[in-house]
Amino acid sequence: MTRLILATRNAKKITELRAILADAGLTHDLVGADAYPEVPDVKETGVTFAENALLKAHALARATGHPAIADDSGLCVDVLGGAPGIFSARWAGTHGDDRANLDLLLAQLADIDAPHRGAHFACAAALALPDGTEHVVEGRLEGTLRHTPSGTGGFGYDPVLQPHGETRTCAELSPEEKNAISHRGKAFRALVPVLRDVLG
Ligand code: IMP
Repeated sequence: MTRLILATRNAKKITELRAILADAGLTHDLVGADAYPEVPDVKETGVTFAENALLKAHALARATGHPAIADDSGLCVDVLGGAPGIFSARWAGTHGDDRANLDLLLAQLADIDAPHRGAHFACAAALALPDGTEHVVEGRLEGTLRHTPSGTGGFGYDPVLQPHGETRTCAELSPEEKNAISHRGKAFRALVPVLRDVLG
């Protein structure tokens, strides 16, 4: 069985991706970056989601000698010209402080009315092989931003992004409902045919 490395230490992402691969009938031995503690975390020096996803995938593929996949994602707000974008996880200064990031964004947009509150989640999913071969695909979830957070599910900016066609925010959807329409779900499902082609 081909071993496939997922360049993350996030157990939730590994579970999510296992389900997507299994649904697609792929039976790779999927392991997270935690299986290789000696491999250092990669500096995300890219300026696009795709560049950062590729950086992470190449680093793991090179270090382990196995094909590796990685993702990079964020929230892009129309009226902010696509920000926070690649800075989504550290918009308020501290990496991963979801509450502070959300509060800062809502304060910045306080005077902006509903018609101008368009935004999307974006995700790039990359596959890299030890020989340097690479593939990258992207997925989006379009919606509008609420003025106040709603819902307790998900993470990050989920409580304020209401997907088009929905009356609920992402934080009010079940994990299955969110995966079915999410930027990450779409990107990894788009990577499945590539995995099938390249890895057999
Ligand atoms: P990462 O690519 O998983 O590191 O995500 C980067 C940041 O983008 C997260 O810390 C969140 O702030 C934001 N983000 C990415 N995907 C989502 C999502 O599905 N819901 C809410 N926020 C997200």
